[in-house]
Formats: sequence, C-alpha cells, structure tokens
Amino acid sequence: MLTSFRDLKADPQIRRSEHITHWEKTRKAAASIAAGLSLSGVNKRFDNRHAVNDFSFDIKPGEIISLLGPSGCGKSTLLRMIAGIERPDSGRIVIGDIEVSSTGRFLPPEQRGVGLMFQDFALFPHMNVIDNVAFGLKRLGRAVARREATAVLTRMGLADYARAYPHLLSGGQQQRVALARAIAPRPGVLLMDEPFSGLDARLRHEIRNETLAILNEVGATAIFVTHDPEEAMRLSDRIAVMSRGSLVQAGTVDELYHKPHNIYVAETFSELNIIPCRIISGWAVGPMGRFRAQEGLEGEVMLCLRPHQITIKDEADGVAARVLQNFTVGHETLMELGVSGLEKPLIIRTDAAHARPGGSEVNLSVNTENALFFPRP
Ligand code: ADP
Repeated sequence: MLTSFRDLKADPQIRRSEHITHWEKTRKAAASIAAGLSLSGVNKRFDNRHAVNDFSFDIKPGEIISLLGPSGCGKSTLLRMIAGIERPDSGRIVIGDIEVSSTGRFLPPEQRGVGLMFQDFALFPHMNVIDNVAFGLKRLGRAVARREATAVLTRMGLADYARAYPHLLSGGQQQRVALARAIAPRPGVLLMDEPFSGLDARLRHEIRNETLAILNEVGATAIFVTHDPEEAMRLSDRIAVMSRGSLVQAGTVDELYHKPHNIYVAETFSELNIIPCRIISGWAVGPMGRFRAQEGLEGEVMLCLRPHQITIKDEADGVAARVLQNFTVGHETLMELGVSGLEKPLIIRTDAAHARPGGSEVNLSVNTENALFFPRP
C-alpha cells in the first residue's frame, strides 16, 4: 500500500493506480510519513531586537505541538523559519533527516516537505476550490492531481463545493479548504499559524475538533501557533511556552500545570493568587497563614494558590477576609476578597450556593497540598 506522497513522486507510473484505489476505497485522509523536527540554537533579529532567541527544541514524528505565548513573543517568526519563509540569523533546523537550514544552507519551502495553513486561509481567490487544493499536487499531472484533490475534498465534506470560488464560501468552509490544500500533498510536517482565530467561538470549536480528527488520520507531525492556552491544551501532545523569543518550558499539559518552572508558566494555564511569604525554620509564613514549605527553600518566596485551593469555611477560624466583589461566571461565582497584608484581591471560585454578598466577613481555608512556591524575583 502506498504510504507517502513522496513514494508517489518517486515512482508515479507504478504507484498512481494503487494510490487512487486506496483513496477511493477508504475515503479517509491518506497517511503522511510523519517527520521529526529538530531546532538547535535558532536566532532571528529584526532591527537589532531578538524575535527568536537561541531556540532549541526537538519534536518527535507524529507529535502535535503548540507554540504558545502572547502576541509578539516570536511564535510566527519561528514557524516561518521552520517553513523556509524566513531565514534564521543562526542555528540549525532539521526536518526528518534533512538539514533544511544552517550556516550556509537554506532550503526553500517546497523542498522541506511541510504543509502550511494561516489564519487568513490564504486561498487563491482566482482559483476554484478544486484548483486551490490541487495546486500543491501539480507534479502528479492534472488528471491525478484533480482526483487526489477530489478525494481530500470528499473526506472533508466539501465535494459539492469543488467548483465554487473562495469568496462564495463561509469562513468555516474556507478553513476546511485551506486544511484540505495543506494535507493534500501529504506533508511530513503541518505548520499552522493561528488557524482558528478568524472563526467565531462555536465554529472554532467544531473546526478544531475536525482538524484534530484529520490530523490523527493523516498522522503528520503538526505545529500550531496559538496565544490561547485552552486551545493549546485541547490540541497538543506537548506545548512549548514562549516568552520574548525564548522557550520558557516545554511539556505535556500535566507537566506544565503541575510542575511549572516559574510563575509565568503557572499563570499561563490558570488564574493564580500570588502570596509573598518568608521561610522561617521550614515554614512559609505570610498573610494567608503558616504552611510547611518544600525542602531547600529559603528567604523570601512566592506562594502560588489556584482559586480552587481556597474555600470559604463555615467555622469561625481560618484566614479572615472581606468580600469585595462577586461575578457570576457560568455556573460558578468568582469572588474577589480582601485579606489584610495582601496588596491585590484574592480570587476564589465557588458554586453559587456558597457565594457570599459583597461586604460580608468570611473565613477561608487553604489547601496547600499542591501549592507552588517560587523564589521572589
Ligand atoms: P507572534 O507570532 O508571537 O505574535 P512574531 O513572530 O510575529 O510574534 O513577532 C515577534 C517580534 O518580531 C515582534 O516584535 C514583531 O514586531 C517582530 N517582527 C516580526 N516580523 C517582523 C518583520 N518582518 N520586520 C520587523 N519586525 C518583525
């Protein structure tokens, strides 16, 4: 059975009929040979400022990775360097077993075996849907390219739109066409830059799930750029958290949530109450009381508590607080509380039944089982 588009290119006469049969039989997106990816010490400056700074990261074949961070932290620049649209100042990029970028070497995008998908879809407006999808398959010859494109469109529920022009399609349909065009050549790596951010919330959810299903079918390695932590958590096997051009921490959602290396990573994945404490004889002492601290901590530290780790007690002991404001957030109530010695309000989340009105005096209990401590900056 044909396993890769590269095989097809290598031996078109032998493979074509088998290839088409496979597509038509399965009506599934045919598999790519997923490529691994290695970035070592990649740098890029604009106007003498680092957009990407000494970035090193290895991705396994078939992994789905998100590059996550706020706007301007270098995610797109990194993706563009992997794609071959941007030239690094230094560093090395290897895709599969091909060195695509290093000192004195720079392969263009079409020689990297990557598929690209951008936020604005970037469909060719003067081409109909099938020609858009067949565009990257030109080398197969027109007839095979069109059959291949038809098979992908059928898999994605777009066969009826094959002759439509992009401007006649909804945002969701354009997005599907863009994905079809990206996967049709069976790239070893799919690169996607904020692919869902142009869609409204409901459609985004649907298309994201659909994309994930297709990626699983295709088996290609995929790298998403996103500034949305929830999206990264839903999509990825691993997330690379970036700040100011640098990789801060990479890991699974579980690792990043439970073992963040610093407050920046911890805050990326949840609201955080940051409470200054001082370590005295192995205890962290501060406005929220006195807690056993991990071994090895000394001096001034930050105790980080997630909203669910703080609850309102019925008993009169515990940490005294005053309710400042309440907000209903779906089935939960988000409460802001004032605590003596804390500059910022404490945030907790509770069900509506346990919420107290503004101005109430309450007592708090703190669950420090998974509390995070970091040195004070
Ligand atoms: P992100 O994708 O995380 O929003 P970018 O990679 O687009 O971030 O940008 C990183 C930094 O590089 C930003 O400060 C941005 O202004 C700058 N930058 C990106 N592309 C260019 C360019 N072509 N010319 C000059 N500066 C650029």
